[in-house]
Amino acid sequence: MPELPEVETIRSQLDPVLRGKRVSKLTVLDPKWGSPVAATELSEIVEGRTIERLSRRGKYLIFDLGDELALVCHLRMTGNFLYDADAEVLYQRALFQLSAGHTLRFTDPRRFGPAEVIVGAAALDQYFEARLGVEPFSDGFDGSALRKMAKGRRGSLKAFLLDQRRVAGIGNIYADEALFRAEVHPLREAGSLQAAKYDDLAAAIRDALQAGLDAGGATIDDFRHADGLYGSFQDEFLVHRREGEPCPRCGFEVSKIVVAGRGTYLCGRCQKRPRATTRRRVVRPADRSGRRP
Ligand SMILES: [Zn+2]
Repeated sequence: MPELPEVETIRSQLDPVLRGKRVSKLTVLDPKWGSPVAATELSEIVEGRTIERLSRRGKYLIFDLGDELALVCHLRMTGNFLYDADAEVLYQRALFQLSAGHTLRFTDPRRFGPAEVIVGAAALDQYFEARLGVEPFSDGFDGSALRKMAKGRRGSLKAFLLDQRRVAGIGNIYADEALFRAEVHPLREAGSLQAAKYDDLAAAIRDALQAGLDAGGATIDDFRHADGLYGSFQDEFLVHRREGEPCPRCGFEVSKIVVAGRGTYLCGRCQKRPRATTRRRVVRPADRSGRRP
């Protein structure tokens, strides 16, 4: 699934070519895309408007259509925005015909990526406030912010990092890469780190995301650039999807476990497994006789 570096790669490629272009026609090929707004209604709202800019929050892309009207899109598992792609490209769900004969096609084999029209700047803020936490490259993100968010949380750090309402934009790839860089086990309780370790983790999150950005994102399943090319970060993963390969830091074998329902990769030597934290009820002799302690 595209994460912050993948979505930001798309945004940075599309923003300069889309800015100032008028949407002469929007053909919604899959009514589920803009649901519950009907396909014809969605087209009517968007057609004739000029794309003023394309921005990003978390893993969302936001088409600013002027007059405080925004088309908010999410790529989910397999969504791609392709600029001036072949008309025959597969799995098209929406086609934007733009000024000067250009096109923007949204393709999405799994059909999970939604589109929503939001009217008004305040409504847009509310939309994201309800869904997203801090942007990892914003001033508001650092070790102490992370520590505050994690305070008292007993769930795993991996699950904590995947929660978009805490830090926006991190998914399965970058959570694994960041935890490895910070030398923290994914099963550690989110609130259990020493203060300085949150600084390490914040830096590791930024470093992992930046490495992804520098490589144009990662293509594992379907992610493609706006020109149809693939990202290359999958070739630079430190531990993600590297089960059985040597840890780049210590040479120990990278292992795979399941955390928060997701395949999770780590080095068992660099990332020390926390001691068992499940609280087992101590069975005293009195219990065995059936009496309550
Ligand atoms: Zn290692």
